[in-house]
Amino acid sequence: MNQNALTPDFSDRLSQVRQRIAAACEQHGRKSTEVMLLAVSKTFPASDVAALAGCGQEAFGENYVQEGVDKIITLRAAGLEHLKWHFIGPLQSNKTKPVAEHFDWVHTVDREKIAQRLSEQRPAHLPPLNICLQVKTSTEQSKHGLDASTLDALAASVARLPRLVLRGLMTLPEPGNEANEFAQLRELFLRMQQTHPSLDTLSMGMSADLETAIEHGSTCVRVGTALFGHRTPKGTPPA
Ligand SMILES: *Cc1c(COP(=O)(O)O)cnc(C)c1O
Repeated sequence: MNQNALTPDFSDRLSQVRQRIAAACEQHGRKSTEVMLLAVSKTFPASDVAALAGCGQEAFGENYVQEGVDKIITLRAAGLEHLKWHFIGPLQSNKTKPVAEHFDWVHTVDREKIAQRLSEQRPAHLPPLNICLQVKTSTEQSKHGLDASTLDALAASVARLPRLVLRGLMTLPEPGNEANEFAQLRELFLRMQQTHPSLDTLSMGMSADLETAIEHGSTCVRVGTALFGHRTPKGTPPA
């Protein structure tokens, strides 16, 4: 029970989201073990991550480099060394080093230069960095991601880089067009698996559309709001 609006019941929220994933898997003839839950903790404090980790959640996603690295360092120092960290925000080439040094996954690689830098900067004592290529499935101009026509070339480069492992594809669809874009990404994924057997991750679906994503084959749903609550828009002082 949530007794106090200021201390959300993470355990309830986590079981609700797991329940949604299980129901969608059941409905679409999939096993719920095929779909991993990535908890997107951007804008929320390390203490909220620790609370959700205390309920058994292990994979967390962050969008902003400095904010993410600060949380990773804080939580590792607090003994939470088993958590896995996924970078899911836009990545500029001058910010790749802290990502290569602290994260386990990057979902948003969309050009060769970023991939090369991540591979060069991945410390030797860590396992290779897991990579998803972010594909632009939308026709909207402002969206990040690479064009499907250049996907094969980038996948081939990433596969050759020694400190990266090509794991999958990711998309962030245009609102209202999710089913269509998820279906497109799955087609690309199935085709690419034939040349890249290491591909096992289809990163798609968020709080509002995880059922649609699971219907279309998602293996990793990235859920923020349904677990942590609504985010305060950047630049707005907290209420
Ligand atoms: C913020 C974010 C999410 C989580 O979105 P919610 O709607 O809060 O679940 C997922 N993926 C990416 C890339 C994000 O930036």
